[in-house]
Amino acid sequence: MSLQEADILKALDAVKLPDGKPLGSSGRMTSVVINDGKIICAISIDAQEAGAMEPVRAAAEAAIRKLPEAKTVLVGLTAEKAPTRTAPAGAAQPRATSRPPNLPGVKHIIAVASGKGGVGKSTTACNLALGLAALGLKVGILDADIYGPSLPKLFGLRGKPKLVGPRMLEPMERYGVKVMSIGFLVDEEQAMIWRGPMVISAITQMLREVAWGELDALVVDMPPGTGDAQLTMAQQTPTSGAVIVSTPQDLALLDARRGVTMFQKVNVPILGIIENMSTFCCPNCGHISPIFGHGGARLEAERLGVPFLGEVPLDMNIRATSDEGRPIVATEPDSPHAQIYKRMARQVWDAVSQGSGARAAPRIVIE
Ligand code: ADP
Repeated sequence: MSLQEADILKALDAVKLPDGKPLGSSGRMTSVVINDGKIICAISIDAQEAGAMEPVRAAAEAAIRKLPEAKTVLVGLTAEKAPTRTAPAGAAQPRATSRPPNLPGVKHIIAVASGKGGVGKSTTACNLALGLAALGLKVGILDADIYGPSLPKLFGLRGKPKLVGPRMLEPMERYGVKVMSIGFLVDEEQAMIWRGPMVISAITQMLREVAWGELDALVVDMPPGTGDAQLTMAQQTPTSGAVIVSTPQDLALLDARRGVTMFQKVNVPILGIIENMSTFCCPNCGHISPIFGHGGARLEAERLGVPFLGEVPLDMNIRATSDEGRPIVATEPDSPHAQIYKRMARQVWDAVSQGSGARAAPRIVIE
């Protein structure tokens, strides 16, 4: 008979929670999915427990992997419940809690986030990563935008990553940057139906079970938005700092503000806001139009007291090079737009390496 959820839970009783109780019957296992030897599940935790529960997560994966029919096993932690004690509304005080373990060999993780989709977050993350590489740094990029993985297209990459050893995946490489995306592993439609806990499981695994090697910077293209999945991810990733991408419209800025607040709540420094699609440069006459009311992100950054990293115009060439898998910083490194990305990458690197983006222990407060 094929593997059932009850078999998984039984196997998980061999794993003990920090209080000594068996994991399988603790009621903590959520969304156990079994599909043709692929087993995906999540352990429900209180946000403060993330550090203490990481060894339990690893032990759970090992226990399931021992089952004869298990081929691919993915166990994640999910903090969908608010912590038992909450801070007063608006307070961003960090609470003493364990921080997620660092990624061995990776000096800085830089999250690129946006309050909503379609603002150019992935395009920016890709060109920022290439800008960091142009500084002579060793750089990787992780596509955590599980709902719309676009890094394979942006980098012009196809195929599946190789396995190294029993469970580590080798990242793909292009333009001198190591790339990992859920888009290499599952087809797009499958990724789209993943929900909160699944998303976090997959991202945690991609972060920790990829042979990144020695990196100065790992850029993480976050899922868009500021919901539970993003908050948990921000909390479970040992992030040095976050960059928020916004378009100049008021609505996008409101979302960007939520993004800033989200990272501040988990005590991740904001490295800055980028205004994307800031002005439109007419490809025929060169006339520049502020079609979305340019400058809003700079004002918003000032108001929030966070750095403003710069403006990227809405430009046909940025779109075309992105869609063709020839990102502008790699293929036209001396063009004015590539220079903008490279300048921003320098600012980001200065901030993380000089400590203003110093690794603060991400801590969580959910209101
Ligand atoms: P997100 O990651 O926020 O969903 P993408 O990076 O996928 O957004 O960008 C959405 C679309 O906008 C893509 O077609 C991309 O090529 C285009 N785009 C992004 N930034 C620019 C820009 N500065 N100029 C022109 N097109 C852009």
